[in-house]
Amino acid sequence: MRSPILDYLDSIIATTEHVDSGSTADYIPELAAADPTRAAIALCTSNGTVYASGDADHEFSIQSMSKPFAYALAIEDHGLEYVLDRIGVEPSGDAFNELSLDPETGKPRNPMINAGAITTHSLINSEGEKTAVDRMLEYFGDLADRPIRVDEAVANSELATAHRNLGLAYLLHGSGALPADPTESVTGYIRQCAASVTVSDLALMAATLANGGVQPKTGKQLLCRRTNRHLLSVMASCGMYDAAGNWLTTVGIPAKSGVAGGIIGVLPGQIGVAVFSPRLDAHGNSARGVAMMELLSEDMGLHLMEATRPSRSSLRETQLVSLVDGTEATIYVLQGDLVLSSIESLVQEIVTHPPRTDLVVFDMSRVDEVMPVAERTSSETAAKLIEEGYRIIVVDPEGTVENFADSHGRTIERWTPEQLSDAVR
Ligand code: GLN
Repeated sequence: MRSPILDYLDSIIATTEHVDSGSTADYIPELAAADPTRAAIALCTSNGTVYASGDADHEFSIQSMSKPFAYALAIEDHGLEYVLDRIGVEPSGDAFNELSLDPETGKPRNPMINAGAITTHSLINSEGEKTAVDRMLEYFGDLADRPIRVDEAVANSELATAHRNLGLAYLLHGSGALPADPTESVTGYIRQCAASVTVSDLALMAATLANGGVQPKTGKQLLCRRTNRHLLSVMASCGMYDAAGNWLTTVGIPAKSGVAGGIIGVLPGQIGVAVFSPRLDAHGNSARGVAMMELLSEDMGLHLMEATRPSRSSLRETQLVSLVDGTEATIYVLQGDLVLSSIESLVQEIVTHPPRTDLVVFDMSRVDEVMPVAERTSSETAAKLIEEGYRIIVVDPEGTVENFADSHGRTIERWTPEQLSDAVR
């Protein structure tokens, strides 16, 4: 049976067929000559399953969709503070190839426009024989889980007409924002942009970002969680250049476009998507690609600002039981993800109806994940209960709170589910 998800992706390609506005990038001859009728879409879930439709095997250059990944590598090489000292994170409101420098700091406004991306590229370390471009390609390969190469025809074509980027780089160099050699930085940056990919590769790369930096197929942690979050924030505010505000209100997911016609989108915790169609709108974003993403977001309810159902209470039930040795115990049976909104009802229950038994058991057998805020709140609640003379036991077979201690550092006694059922029997 063909997956209905594939049928749905086919329908997006069909429904947007009439979108033929815009034109291929004219300042790079090789891109200007692209077949404008091509279209493709791919979606990758956080378990690594890729669904692709249209010209899914067609390779095209990654262009500016390389920028977030280059930025990630620069941050992994030097640390966030170092990179933030050199490149800002404010949307520029300008076209991607403007010389947008913050008038106060003299830094490029953000790493998604060319000024910031050329500086970013110059921050990627070489390692022995490996140049920054070699490292970028290796990184793309890890993200896409297959070898990624430079399309030499695209790279040479752009290098031959790179006057504007060279101009930007010399101005950046002259104003102190690009310490490296301007020509070398632009050459490396252009080769990074000429990496050849398909929509399926891009969907996997985007899914890695959706997955907190863990490549969903190989399980490799390719970005640390903090860098991943930072990156997605910059994509959300700056990824679509001077159309970023319109994009965030309509499609509502962190994204990045490229001048060859690709767009990647990331729905944190859920999916990575990629679309391709070479004709560009006035902002340099794929016109049909934007239409495909708008449809997808609307139909699948992907908008990040959609207020989802409030998380259900983490307190499933409160049991008052007598144990085999005659003592009485209060058992709080918890469930789901413990976040602030779900754990609040447990805390409120304990505050308004303090347990009437000295022994208090938290049964966490049905808990999936405990967020730091919930762990902190639980530690503080545990400390208060201990101070009031209660004995606390945690049943946590999945190890959702390993080494759980109260906020004074006192380790909390643990029981296995078997110990609990033996004690109650
Ligand atoms: N290599 C292209 C350039 O620098 C990338 C621009 C883009 O994709 N928006 O002009």
